[in-house]
Amino acid sequence: MHCPFCRNPDSRVVDSRTSEDGSSIRRRRQCPACQRRFSTSETASLSVVKRSGVTETFSRDKIVGGVRKACQGRPVDEDDLALLAQQVEEAIRSAGTAEIDAGDVGLAILGPLRDLDEVAYLRFASVYRGFESLDDFEAAIRSLREDHAEQADADSSTQ
Ligand SMILES: [Zn+2]
Repeated sequence: MHCPFCRNPDSRVVDSRTSEDGSSIRRRRQCPACQRRFSTSETASLSVVKRSGVTETFSRDKIVGGVRKACQGRPVDEDDLALLAQQVEEAIRSAGTAEIDAGDVGLAILGPLRDLDEVAYLRFASVYRGFESLDDFEAAIRSLREDHAEQADADSSTQ
């Protein structure tokens, strides 16, 4: 990091602060040559690699945009969508990679969306997992029903 005043190639960190949401770090630096201070900001970048090979920066807005269509007419509000996008980002970041395939982003959406709204989940899954026939829908619905049955068992055993 060059000093922006004298172009000295060295700088010393005098203070580091993590942003409120934890996604970036702001550092206060001092140049040992001219003694002037400046700030830098570091963000852990997360790139999404599209099928075409083009990479773009991960954005929660894009997650929300993609899921909103599947949620049309469902009892899902903007807060639900924002929370879902946050869960997806946390899941992806916890994997620790700087790049993720667009398809894997879609898959990371499935879990939280399934918890949020099952109809929206089926719509979204049909696109992202490439459902080709009624069998695919049937299998997904069967899996949802099995979860319901397990939940019912768990509920009745605690009574
Ligand atoms: Zn300097």
